Amino acid sequence: MIISELCRRIGSLRLLPKVLHRNISYVERIRFLQQLKEYDTVCLSHLPSGKFLMYSQSKPLLRVSKASTKDALVWLTYSEVTEYYPQVLNSSVLLDMAEDGTPRYSVQVGALPTAVQEKLESSTGAVFSDLRLALFMVSWRDAHTLSRANCVLMWNRNNAFCGKCGAPTERNAAGYSRKCKNCNMTHYPSAIPVGIVLVTDPDHQNIVLVRQPRHPPGMYSCIAGFSDVGESLEDTVHREVAEEVGIEVSSVRYVASQHWPFPGSLMAGCFATAEKQELSLDQNELQDARWFSREEVSMALDRITANPHLRLRGNPSGELFIPPPGAIAYHLISHWMKGTPVQEIYQHIY
Ligand SMILES: [Zn+2]
Repeated sequence: MIISELCRRIGSLRLLPKVLHRNISYVERIRFLQQLKEYDTVCLSHLPSGKFLMYSQSKPLLRVSKASTKDALVWLTYSEVTEYYPQVLNSSVLLDMAEDGTPRYSVQVGALPTAVQEKLESSTGAVFSDLRLALFMVSWRDAHTLSRANCVLMWNRNNAFCGKCGAPTERNAAGYSRKCKNCNMTHYPSAIPVGIVLVTDPDHQNIVLVRQPRHPPGMYSCIAGFSDVGESLEDTVHREVAEEVGIEVSSVRYVASQHWPFPGSLMAGCFATAEKQELSLDQNELQDARWFSREEVSMALDRITANPHLRLRGNPSGELFIPPPGAIAYHLISHWMKGTPVQEIYQHIY
Protein backbone atom coordinates (compact mmCIF):
# COMPACT_ATOMS: atom_id res chain seq x y z
CA MET A 1 0.00 0.00 0.00
CA ILE A 2 1.36 3.38 -0.99
CA ILE A 3 0.09 5.12 2.14
CA SER A 4 1.44 2.56 4.57
CA GLU A 5 4.86 2.66 2.87
CA LEU A 6 4.93 6.43 3.09
CA CYS A 7 3.85 6.36 6.71
CA ARG A 8 6.93 4.31 7.59
CA ARG A 9 9.08 6.99 5.99
CA ILE A 10 7.48 9.91 7.80
CA GLY A 11 9.89 9.61 10.72
CA SER A 12 12.80 10.52 8.48
CA LEU A 13 11.00 13.26 6.59
CA ARG A 14 11.63 16.91 7.21
CA LEU A 15 8.36 18.86 7.17
CA LEU A 16 8.25 20.78 3.93
CA PRO A 17 7.25 23.49 4.23
CA LYS A 18 6.62 23.94 7.97
CA VAL A 19 3.08 24.74 9.09
CA LEU A 20 3.23 28.48 9.35
CA HIS A 21 0.96 29.27 12.33
CA ARG A 22 0.44 32.85 11.27
CA ASN A 23 -2.04 34.50 8.99
CA ILE A 24 -0.89 33.81 5.45
CA SER A 25 -2.25 35.17 2.20
CA TYR A 26 -4.95 33.44 0.20
CA VAL A 27 -2.49 32.67 -2.62
CA GLU A 28 0.02 31.14 -0.18
CA ARG A 29 -2.70 28.95 1.28
CA ILE A 30 -3.98 27.80 -2.09
CA ARG A 31 -0.50 26.91 -3.34
CA PHE A 32 0.31 25.04 -0.12
CA LEU A 33 -3.00 23.19 -0.43
CA GLN A 34 -2.12 22.30 -4.01
CA GLN A 35 1.14 20.69 -2.79
CA LEU A 36 -0.75 18.73 -0.16
CA LYS A 37 -3.21 17.46 -2.78
CA GLU A 38 -0.53 16.43 -5.25
CA TYR A 39 2.44 15.18 -3.22
CA ASP A 40 1.83 12.28 -0.85
CA THR A 41 4.99 12.85 1.18
CA VAL A 42 4.07 16.49 1.84
CA CYS A 43 0.49 15.60 2.74
CA LEU A 44 1.44 12.78 5.11
CA SER A 45 4.20 14.75 6.78
CA HIS A 46 1.67 17.44 7.75
CA LEU A 47 -1.03 15.07 8.91
CA PRO A 48 0.19 15.00 12.56
CA SER A 49 -0.03 18.80 12.78
CA GLY A 50 -3.46 18.98 11.11
CA LYS A 51 -6.95 19.46 12.50
CA PHE A 52 -9.69 16.89 11.91
CA LEU A 53 -13.44 17.07 11.40
CA MET A 54 -14.86 13.70 12.40
CA TYR A 55 -17.78 11.91 10.70
CA SER A 56 -19.35 8.78 12.13
CA GLN A 57 -21.62 6.96 9.67
CA SER A 58 -21.80 10.14 7.55
CA LYS A 59 -22.83 12.28 10.56
CA PRO A 60 -20.44 15.17 11.36
CA LEU A 61 -19.46 15.97 14.96
CA LEU A 62 -21.03 19.38 15.59
CA ARG A 63 -21.92 21.83 18.33
CA VAL A 64 -25.32 22.79 17.01
CA SER A 65 -26.99 25.66 18.83
CA LYS A 66 -30.25 27.37 17.93
CA ALA A 67 -28.86 30.62 19.35
CA SER A 68 -25.66 30.80 17.30
CA THR A 69 -23.99 29.30 14.25
CA LYS A 70 -20.47 30.19 15.51
CA ASP A 71 -17.87 27.47 16.15
CA ALA A 72 -20.25 24.70 15.12
CA LEU A 73 -17.52 22.54 13.59
CA VAL A 74 -15.37 20.57 16.07
CA TRP A 75 -11.72 20.46 15.00
CA LEU A 76 -9.78 17.68 16.76
CA THR A 77 -6.00 17.33 16.88
CA TYR A 78 -4.26 14.31 15.39
CA SER A 79 -3.59 12.84 18.84
CA GLU A 80 -7.22 13.35 19.88
CA VAL A 81 -8.46 11.53 16.77
CA THR A 82 -6.02 8.64 17.10
CA GLU A 83 -7.06 8.20 20.74
CA TYR A 84 -10.53 7.28 19.49
CA TYR A 85 -9.69 5.94 16.05
CA PRO A 86 -6.11 4.72 15.34
CA GLN A 87 -6.75 4.09 11.60
CA VAL A 88 -6.91 7.82 10.85
CA LEU A 89 -4.29 7.72 8.07
CA ASN A 90 -6.35 5.55 5.76
CA SER A 91 -9.68 7.15 6.64
CA SER A 92 -8.99 10.88 6.32
CA VAL A 93 -9.16 13.20 3.35
CA LEU A 94 -7.76 16.69 2.92
CA LEU A 95 -10.33 19.46 3.28
CA ASP A 96 -8.80 22.94 3.25
CA MET A 97 -6.36 25.13 5.12
CA ALA A 98 -7.06 27.39 8.09
CA GLU A 99 -5.97 31.02 7.89
CA ASP A 100 -2.93 30.26 10.10
CA GLY A 101 -1.73 27.61 7.63
CA THR A 102 -2.97 24.56 9.54
CA PRO A 103 -4.09 21.85 7.09
CA ARG A 104 -7.56 20.53 7.88
CA TYR A 105 -8.84 17.04 7.16
CA SER A 106 -12.04 15.10 7.62
CA VAL A 107 -12.09 11.56 8.88
CA GLN A 108 -14.81 8.93 8.49
CA VAL A 109 -14.77 6.59 11.50
CA GLY A 110 -17.77 4.34 10.83
CA ALA A 111 -19.86 3.17 13.80
CA LEU A 112 -18.13 3.85 17.13
CA PRO A 113 -18.77 1.72 20.24
CA THR A 114 -21.45 3.47 22.33
CA ALA A 115 -19.09 4.17 25.24
CA VAL A 116 -16.48 5.70 22.93
CA GLN A 117 -19.06 7.87 21.17
CA GLU A 118 -20.47 9.11 24.48
CA LYS A 119 -17.00 9.96 25.79
CA LEU A 120 -16.16 11.83 22.60
CA GLU A 121 -19.44 13.78 22.54
CA SER A 122 -19.17 14.59 26.24
CA SER A 123 -15.56 15.80 26.05
CA THR A 124 -16.25 18.07 23.05
CA GLY A 125 -19.75 19.26 24.00
CA ALA A 126 -20.88 18.14 20.55
CA VAL A 127 -22.99 15.44 18.93
CA PHE A 128 -22.84 13.48 15.68
CA SER A 129 -25.57 15.26 13.72
CA ASP A 130 -27.68 14.52 10.65
CA LEU A 131 -25.88 16.22 7.76
CA ARG A 132 -29.00 17.37 5.88
CA LEU A 133 -30.36 19.12 8.98
CA ALA A 134 -26.96 20.47 9.99
CA LEU A 135 -26.51 22.29 6.67
CA PHE A 136 -29.36 24.62 7.63
CA MET A 137 -28.07 25.23 11.16
CA VAL A 138 -24.46 26.30 10.54
CA SER A 139 -22.96 29.30 8.74
CA TRP A 140 -22.81 29.36 4.94
CA ARG A 141 -19.03 28.87 5.01
CA ASP A 142 -19.24 25.93 7.43
CA ALA A 143 -21.99 24.38 5.30
CA HIS A 144 -19.59 24.36 2.34
CA THR A 145 -16.90 22.70 4.48
CA LEU A 146 -19.37 19.99 5.60
CA SER A 147 -20.53 19.52 2.03
CA ARG A 148 -16.99 19.15 0.66
CA ALA A 149 -15.97 16.73 3.41
CA ASN A 150 -18.97 14.49 2.85
CA CYS A 151 -18.55 14.49 -0.93
CA VAL A 152 -14.83 13.63 -0.93
CA LEU A 153 -15.32 10.88 1.64
CA MET A 154 -18.25 9.42 -0.36
CA TRP A 155 -16.37 9.79 -3.66
CA ASN A 156 -13.52 7.64 -2.30
CA ARG A 157 -15.97 5.03 -1.02
CA ASN A 158 -17.84 4.89 -4.35
CA ASN A 159 -14.79 4.81 -6.62
CA ALA A 160 -12.90 1.79 -5.32
CA PHE A 161 -12.90 0.38 -8.87
CA CYS A 162 -11.85 1.94 -12.16
CA GLY A 163 -14.69 3.22 -14.36
CA LYS A 164 -12.66 2.40 -17.46
CA CYS A 165 -11.42 -1.16 -16.90
CA GLY A 166 -13.01 -2.29 -13.62
CA ALA A 167 -9.77 -2.98 -11.74
CA PRO A 168 -9.25 -1.75 -8.12
CA THR A 169 -8.10 1.86 -7.67
CA GLU A 170 -5.79 3.25 -4.98
CA ARG A 171 -6.25 6.66 -3.39
CA ASN A 172 -3.50 9.22 -2.94
CA ALA A 173 -2.67 10.53 0.55
CA ALA A 174 -4.96 13.57 0.30
CA GLY A 175 -7.87 11.50 -0.97
CA TYR A 176 -8.20 13.81 -3.98
CA SER A 177 -7.35 11.29 -6.69
CA ARG A 178 -7.49 7.53 -7.25
CA LYS A 179 -5.21 5.65 -9.63
CA CYS A 180 -6.14 2.41 -11.37
CA LYS A 181 -3.65 -0.38 -10.66
CA ASN A 182 -4.31 -1.93 -14.08
CA CYS A 183 -4.68 0.79 -16.75
CA ASN A 184 -3.03 3.64 -14.76
CA MET A 185 -5.96 5.99 -15.33
CA THR A 186 -6.23 8.63 -12.60
CA HIS A 187 -9.71 9.59 -11.39
CA TYR A 188 -10.62 12.88 -9.67
CA PRO A 189 -13.72 13.98 -7.69
CA SER A 190 -15.98 16.52 -9.38
CA ALA A 191 -19.23 18.41 -8.79
CA ILE A 192 -22.44 18.04 -10.80
CA PRO A 193 -23.71 21.36 -12.23
CA VAL A 194 -27.28 22.35 -11.38
CA GLY A 195 -29.14 25.44 -12.59
CA ILE A 196 -31.43 27.05 -10.01
CA VAL A 197 -33.46 30.00 -11.22
CA LEU A 198 -35.78 32.66 -9.86
CA VAL A 199 -38.22 33.57 -12.65
CA THR A 200 -39.64 37.11 -12.40
CA ASP A 201 -42.13 39.05 -14.49
CA PRO A 202 -40.69 42.00 -16.49
CA ASP A 203 -41.85 44.53 -13.85
CA HIS A 204 -40.34 42.53 -10.98
CA GLN A 205 -43.67 42.46 -9.16
CA ASN A 206 -44.20 38.66 -9.23
CA ILE A 207 -42.05 35.52 -9.15
CA VAL A 208 -42.59 31.83 -9.92
CA LEU A 209 -42.08 29.44 -7.02
CA VAL A 210 -42.62 25.68 -7.13
CA ARG A 211 -43.40 22.97 -4.68
CA GLN A 212 -42.07 19.41 -4.79
CA PRO A 213 -43.97 16.55 -3.10
CA ARG A 214 -41.11 16.11 -0.57
CA HIS A 215 -41.30 19.72 0.64
CA PRO A 216 -42.86 20.30 4.07
CA PRO A 217 -46.34 21.90 4.04
CA GLY A 218 -46.25 25.50 2.84
CA MET A 219 -42.69 25.49 1.47
CA TYR A 220 -42.11 26.77 -2.06
CA SER A 221 -38.74 27.27 -3.74
CA CYS A 222 -37.06 28.12 -7.05
CA ILE A 223 -37.04 25.92 -10.15
CA ALA A 224 -33.89 23.76 -10.30
CA GLY A 225 -32.46 20.93 -12.36
CA PHE A 226 -29.28 19.15 -13.42
CA SER A 227 -27.36 20.34 -16.48
CA ASP A 228 -27.67 17.92 -19.37
CA VAL A 229 -24.67 16.75 -21.35
CA GLY A 230 -23.68 19.41 -23.90
CA GLU A 231 -25.69 22.22 -22.29
CA SER A 232 -24.58 25.67 -21.20
CA LEU A 233 -25.96 26.98 -17.91
CA GLU A 234 -28.32 29.19 -19.90
CA ASP A 235 -29.57 26.14 -21.86
CA THR A 236 -30.22 24.31 -18.59
CA VAL A 237 -32.28 27.18 -17.17
CA HIS A 238 -34.35 27.59 -20.36
CA ARG A 239 -35.05 23.85 -20.54
CA GLU A 240 -35.84 23.30 -16.84
CA VAL A 241 -38.34 26.17 -16.75
CA ALA A 242 -40.02 24.89 -19.92
CA GLU A 243 -40.14 21.31 -18.58
CA GLU A 244 -41.37 22.13 -15.08
CA VAL A 245 -43.84 25.02 -15.60
CA GLY A 246 -44.31 25.18 -19.38
CA ILE A 247 -43.16 28.75 -20.14
CA GLU A 248 -40.24 30.36 -21.99
CA VAL A 249 -37.81 32.71 -20.25
CA SER A 250 -35.36 35.35 -21.47
CA SER A 251 -32.46 37.33 -19.99
CA VAL A 252 -30.90 34.51 -17.95
CA ARG A 253 -28.42 36.11 -15.54
CA TYR A 254 -26.02 34.23 -13.26
CA VAL A 255 -25.95 35.58 -9.68
CA ALA A 256 -24.13 33.30 -7.20
CA SER A 257 -23.43 29.63 -6.51
CA GLN A 258 -23.47 27.05 -3.73
CA HIS A 259 -22.12 23.54 -3.32
CA TRP A 260 -24.68 21.04 -2.07
CA PRO A 261 -23.77 17.49 -0.95
CA PHE A 262 -26.91 15.70 -2.18
CA PRO A 263 -25.59 14.27 -4.43
CA GLY A 264 -22.56 16.62 -4.80
CA SER A 265 -23.92 19.50 -6.87
CA LEU A 266 -22.66 22.93 -7.82
CA MET A 267 -25.87 24.99 -7.64
CA ALA A 268 -25.56 27.94 -10.02
CA GLY A 269 -28.12 30.57 -9.00
CA CYS A 270 -29.71 32.67 -11.77
CA PHE A 271 -32.46 35.17 -12.49
CA ALA A 272 -34.60 34.96 -15.62
CA THR A 273 -37.57 36.92 -16.96
CA ALA A 274 -40.94 35.76 -18.32
CA GLU A 275 -44.24 37.44 -19.07
CA LYS A 276 -46.76 36.67 -16.31
CA GLN A 277 -48.76 33.89 -17.91
CA GLU A 278 -50.52 30.70 -16.99
CA LEU A 279 -48.22 27.89 -15.84
CA SER A 280 -48.48 24.29 -17.02
CA LEU A 281 -47.08 21.87 -14.41
CA ASP A 282 -44.93 18.79 -14.90
CA GLN A 283 -47.08 16.55 -12.67
CA ASN A 284 -44.28 13.99 -12.27
CA GLU A 285 -41.88 16.53 -10.74
CA LEU A 286 -44.07 19.10 -9.00
CA GLN A 287 -47.00 19.21 -6.66
CA ASP A 288 -47.69 22.89 -7.36
CA ALA A 289 -46.27 26.01 -9.03
CA ARG A 290 -47.61 29.56 -8.87
CA TRP A 291 -46.85 33.19 -9.46
CA PHE A 292 -46.43 34.94 -6.09
CA SER A 293 -46.77 38.69 -5.48
CA ARG A 294 -44.28 40.84 -3.61
CA GLU A 295 -46.67 41.01 -0.67
CA GLU A 296 -46.93 37.21 -0.43
CA VAL A 297 -43.17 36.75 -0.78
CA SER A 298 -42.48 39.43 1.83
CA MET A 299 -44.58 37.54 4.39
CA ALA A 300 -42.91 34.23 3.46
CA LEU A 301 -39.49 35.81 3.87
CA ASP A 302 -40.45 37.27 7.26
CA ARG A 303 -41.65 33.84 8.44
CA ILE A 304 -38.41 32.01 7.62
CA THR A 305 -36.23 34.88 8.87
CA ALA A 306 -38.05 34.87 12.21
CA ASN A 307 -37.96 31.08 12.41
CA PRO A 308 -35.13 29.49 10.36
CA HIS A 309 -36.07 26.05 11.72
CA LEU A 310 -39.58 26.16 10.27
CA ARG A 311 -38.51 23.69 7.59
CA LEU A 312 -37.45 21.15 10.20
CA ARG A 313 -40.60 21.43 12.28
CA GLY A 314 -42.98 20.57 9.46
CA ASN A 315 -44.90 23.90 9.54
CA PRO A 316 -48.26 22.54 10.78
CA SER A 317 -50.04 25.84 9.95
CA GLY A 318 -49.27 25.31 6.25
CA GLU A 319 -48.56 29.04 5.70
CA LEU A 320 -46.27 29.95 2.81
CA PHE A 321 -42.54 29.97 3.54
CA ILE A 322 -39.31 29.67 1.53
CA PRO A 323 -36.06 27.72 2.21
CA PRO A 324 -33.92 29.08 5.09
CA PRO A 325 -30.65 31.07 4.69
CA GLY A 326 -28.59 27.85 4.34
CA ALA A 327 -30.02 27.45 0.83
CA ILE A 328 -29.18 29.57 -2.21
CA ALA A 329 -32.90 29.82 -3.05
CA TYR A 330 -33.33 31.99 0.06
CA HIS A 331 -30.65 34.41 -1.15
CA LEU A 332 -32.08 34.64 -4.68
CA ILE A 333 -35.56 35.40 -3.32
CA SER A 334 -34.29 37.76 -0.61
CA HIS A 335 -32.11 39.58 -3.12
CA TRP A 336 -35.07 40.06 -5.51
CA MET A 337 -37.29 41.25 -2.66
CA LYS A 338 -34.85 43.85 -1.34
CA GLY A 339 -33.66 45.03 -4.75
CA THR A 340 -30.05 45.18 -3.60
CA PRO A 341 -27.21 45.32 -6.17
CA VAL A 342 -26.18 41.89 -7.45
CA GLN A 343 -22.73 41.97 -5.86
CA GLU A 344 -24.25 42.38 -2.40
CA ILE A 345 -25.58 38.85 -2.47
CA TYR A 346 -21.99 37.69 -2.02
CA GLN A 347 -21.68 39.79 1.13
CA HIS A 348 -24.70 38.01 2.57
CA ILE A 349 -23.23 34.65 1.65
CA TYR A 350 -19.60 35.17 2.55
ZN1 LIG B 1 -8.44 1.01 -15.08
